[in-house]
Formats: sequence, structure tokens, C-alpha cells
Amino acid sequence: MENFSQKVLIVDDEKANRKILKELLQDEATIIFAKNGEQAVELARKHMPDLILLDVIMPDRSGFEVIEDIKNDKQTMNISVIFVTGLANSDDEERGFDLGGCDYIYKPFKANIVIARVMMHLELIKQRKMLNEIAHIDALTGISNRRKMDIVLTDELAANKRDKNKLAVALIDVDYFKPYNDNYGHGAGDAALKKIATSFREVLQRPRDFAARYGGEEFLIILPNSSIEGTELIISNIVQALADKEIKHEHSKASDLLTISIGAVLVGDEQATTPAEVLLQADKLLYQAKENGRNQLVINDFEI
Ligand code: GH3
Ligand code: MG
Ligand code: MG
Repeated sequence: MENFSQKVLIVDDEKANRKILKELLQDEATIIFAKNGEQAVELARKHMPDLILLDVIMPDRSGFEVIEDIKNDKQTMNISVIFVTGLANSDDEERGFDLGGCDYIYKPFKANIVIARVMMHLELIKQRKMLNEIAHIDALTGISNRRKMDIVLTDELAANKRDKNKLAVALIDVDYFKPYNDNYGHGAGDAALKKIATSFREVLQRPRDFAARYGGEEFLIILPNSSIEGTELIISNIVQALADKEIKHEHSKASDLLTISIGAVLVGDEQATTPAEVLLQADKLLYQAKENGRNQLVINDFEI
């Protein structure tokens, strides 16, 4: 798991307050400042902090208006917000929670209370992030799992409408994997699946290129902004990377090494389709690759 320093955005129009809060928290997190409401929204989007300490009374916009912007924006809506305010009464405190704040600290504050509350929330946020990562990773291979794949495929199909190139979706299945397991053992089978995932990592370099374990011995690759030629190149690089691992398979009828079959579809930017339809077509092409003798790619434009 990635080791990360958490980020806190401190929003207060008074410099003295920003300074005190910074001194209290600078050993625990990376601190960013905003001195008014407008800057707060802008910096929240730009830096995506883990937590915002938000003053309420500010000259341009109140903290209550700021949190509405933050919670209404899909990008920033999950950022935790703690109000730190001179509005020290339970009606305003209630309003703060109603608007989506996770805590409410009265000014003038006691240092230990601020530290204790902020640390508690940072810990919660860190654990939530870790859980979220674990929930989206395949335990055996370390690449994304099917749950993450569903999210990415949906997002990329939506984004594909804005890209002028096509979206490639490739379904990959290991050839004669049952005899591989039967002859070399399940442990060797697991090790082979890991090596396949490693081949993906070695080849996929663009930030949005994506690989997941779809289930069992099947994988899915998503290549945004691609073409038939580009996809063929990437797939042949993956096939080569796997061949370089020289995983012996004496019980395969396709080769004397472990091989994969691939069915890939190219989805155009005009095409309205669903993840299920794309997967179905990729699966049909994969079936053809198997029928044609395995150890090969069958690629096609998506047909409506
Ligand atoms: P084909 O070339 O038609 O794909 O034949 P195949 O033998 O690969 O196909 P089949 O679907 O019959 O076999 C899939 C095998 O994959 C059976 C199953 O035991 C194995 N498998 C699925 N998940 C895992 C896993 O996590 N670890 C290991 N070691 N084997 C797995
Ligand atoms: Mg299979
Ligand atoms: Mg198979």
C-alpha cells in the first residue's frame, strides 16, 4: 500500500488564526492555506486535500456557502470538512452538520481539542482510503479487480464520447489453463496468473491504460484513446512480454509455452453502448480466437 502524507486545507480570513492552526498541525499533515471562500473552493479542487478546516465568517463568502459548493461538486464532495468558527452556538453547529460538515469546533479553541479532533478525522480518512483501495484490488495479482473494472469501464465509456479516437476493450483468457493446473499444481497456476499481471504492468504505460482481473483466469484491458493499430501493438507487446517469461506448458495444444487468447473491441465516440454490451462483444471475439486455435487476437470495431 502506498505511503501517503495527508493534506489539510486551512481556510480563515485572519492571518493569526491560519498561523496558529498551521503550527498545531504541520507535524501531522501537509498544510495548504486559503484566505477567503472563493480561494477555498478553488484550492480544494486543485489540491484535493483530505480535510478542510473551514472558518464560517469571512468577508466574501461564508463557510456555509463554501461547503455547499464543495459538496455539490462531484470531484470534491467526499472531502471531509471541519468548521472552526466563532459562531459558538448549537443552532449554527446543527446547520454545519446539516450541510455535510463532519465536525464543529468553537473559537476561541483550545489547542489540544483541535489536535485531537483533527487527528481522529485524519485517521478515519486514512482508513477509509485504505479500505477503498483494498476493495478494488485483486488479492492474488495486485492489479485491479472486477469491482474496480466496472467503475473504470463505465467512466471510460462516458469519457470516450469526448475523445476523438476509439476506446479499446480487450478480454483475455488463458489457454488450456485447466490442464496447466492439473499438471503443474494450483500453486504454479497462481504464479502464472501473477506473471500475466506483471506482463500487463510492463507494457501498459499511459496513465489511463487499465488492466483488471475479471475473474478466474480471465483479464480485461481498457485502452482509452486508441486505434486498431495501437491496440494490436499493445496486445502484441503483452503477448511478447508473457512469452519472455517462458512459462513452460507441455499440455497445451497451442504452444509449448503458456499462452493467452484475446478478444478486443474498438468503441467509437458516437456509439451509445453499455459496459454489458461491450463485454458481450469482446467475449464473442474471444470465443472466435479460441475456435481459431487459441494463442491469438481477434479484434473488431464495435457493431451496434
Ligand atoms: P481454454 O483454452 O478454452 O480457455 O481452456 P481452459 O482450460 O483455460 O478453460 P477452463 O475455463 O476449462 O479452465 C479454467 C481453469 O482456470 C480452471 C480453473 O481451475 C483455473 N483457475 C481459475 N481461477 C484460478 C486461480 O485463481 N488460480 C488457479 N491456479 N487456477 C485458476
Ligand atoms: Mg475462462
Ligand atoms: Mg482458459
